Amino acid sequence: MLNFTKFERINPEKRDVLQRLKDYNEVYQVFTKHRAREQSDRCMQCGDPYCHTGCPLHNFIPAWLKQTAEKNMDLAFALSNETSPFPEILGRICPQDVLCEGACSLNTGHGAVSIGAVETHLNERAFENGMKPKFAPIKGDKKVAVIGSGPAGISAATFLLRRGIAVEMFEREDRAGGLLMYGIPGFKLDKTTVDRRINWLLEAGMKLHLNCEIGKDKSISDIENEFDAVFVGIGAKQGRFAKIDGEDASNSYLAMEFLTGIQKRNLGNNDTDFIDVKDKKVVVIGGGDTAMDCVRSSVREGAKTVKCLYRRDEANMPGSKKEVVNSKEEGVEFVFNVSPNKIITINNEATGIELLKTGLSEADESGRQRVSIIEGSEYIEDADVIIFALGFSPEVPQFLKDAKVETNSWGGIVVNDSFQASNPKFYAGGDCERGAHLAVTAAYDGREAAKEITKVLS
Ligand SMILES: Cc1cc2nc3c(=O)[nH]c(=O)nc-3n(C[C@H](O)[C@H](O)[C@H](O)COP(=O)(O)OP(=O)(O)OC[C@H]3O[C@@H](n4cnc5c(N)ncnc54)[C@H](O)[C@@H]3O)c2cc1C
Ligand code: SF4
Repeated sequence: MLNFTKFERINPEKRDVLQRLKDYNEVYQVFTKHRAREQSDRCMQCGDPYCHTGCPLHNFIPAWLKQTAEKNMDLAFALSNETSPFPEILGRICPQDVLCEGACSLNTGHGAVSIGAVETHLNERAFENGMKPKFAPIKGDKKVAVIGSGPAGISAATFLLRRGIAVEMFEREDRAGGLLMYGIPGFKLDKTTVDRRINWLLEAGMKLHLNCEIGKDKSISDIENEFDAVFVGIGAKQGRFAKIDGEDASNSYLAMEFLTGIQKRNLGNNDTDFIDVKDKKVVVIGGGDTAMDCVRSSVREGAKTVKCLYRRDEANMPGSKKEVVNSKEEGVEFVFNVSPNKIITINNEATGIELLKTGLSEADESGRQRVSIIEGSEYIEDADVIIFALGFSPEVPQFLKDAKVETNSWGGIVVNDSFQASNPKFYAGGDCERGAHLAVTAAYDGREAAKEITKVLS
């Protein structure tokens, strides 16, 4: 250990750009055994590790890095799965630069340990060697309903099943995984990794009801009557337009319509609405990770040009820096400091977007610079397809009201410190409770709620 001067930080290798644009396979390669050991060996084994604090799950990072460096792969696997419901997935998709690796003591100077890449490697290697996560046999007659099969629901189900509590999961889509399945593109996360975790939950005794929307296909009163506790992890998928003229044009879309259509097609479901951008000029409005997923998907779909329009500058982009780098490598053009003013339409079809140039003020107390419009700076960007990637809000389904589960002013489910809702039989977590955020924070919520449910039901 402590070999950070001997080995420099290395990121996982990426597939060649020309190759990766031909498909939706993952861009990053899993570390080799040699590379994972070498990178783990850089860890300083800090007494009070900041990486552990930077990780929302408070994973035992230095412990599994040490076991990886010392070739104790069984122990590394056990430690990494102790706190995380799907470490090999989070190793791939967490924005590590602002979480564990951003907090690593080596980040200022020598370069953080490549924590996410080691996490993915050590789990994939364990799976190749036949290892699987362990679950307890189902005991007792208590059972929990999990509504929603995204990271929050999978995490709640995992930690309940580990304690031998029966779980039934209800999902309105035809596949489980939430945004891991129908949101995050395959070039960031191979969908077989999601199915693998779901299959282990099924092996552990979970019952999964697909195409079953609570409030429509099954009533919430049936759920309340049949189960001893309910975990709600229904996400926050309601997209936002920019509230400008012309945005209801026939070729103006929300990010999720675009991304979900591609992912369903890629998974062989041809019944879905698919937005074809081949040979078209695509403009994506927004600067976060969802915008990056849209621009990178557009390039793969054969768009003629792909532009990302963002109202601040590059330094202020909210998403993961590596996704911006990947987008640029793949041919996306960025236009910074512009704000959409109106969509130019002919017969309700967009032909372009009028933009206003923006300036940035000095940073306020929160450290954020305010955006100001530069009057008279209008100009038009041509567009055949316009995609809005401006964030998400929770939907508030009627079933929450029927169950007397309170929501706040922006639609988030209100919970106490134990993730318990106003109706004490209900618990909630993930995007429907905290607002659109990250898979790892949804996983944390599901884990913590499961602990509380276990206490109450034991
Ligand atoms: C395009 C995109 C890319 C992203 N990329 C990343 C990334 O790289 N890294 C990262 O950490 N995070 C990323 N995120 C965010 C992350 O995916 C979410 O924060 C996370 O999935 C939230 O998990 P969740 O379980 O709360 O909700 P979701 O994943 O949204 O799952 C909720 C599930 O509940 C189901 N559901 C809803 N209502 C009902 C009902 N009435 N009955 C039954 N089922 C219902 C939904 O169909 C869905 O499957 C991304 C998000 C998007 C949109
Ligand atoms: S879960 Fe995410 S933040 Fe935590 S160690 Fe893994 S990659 Fe880092």
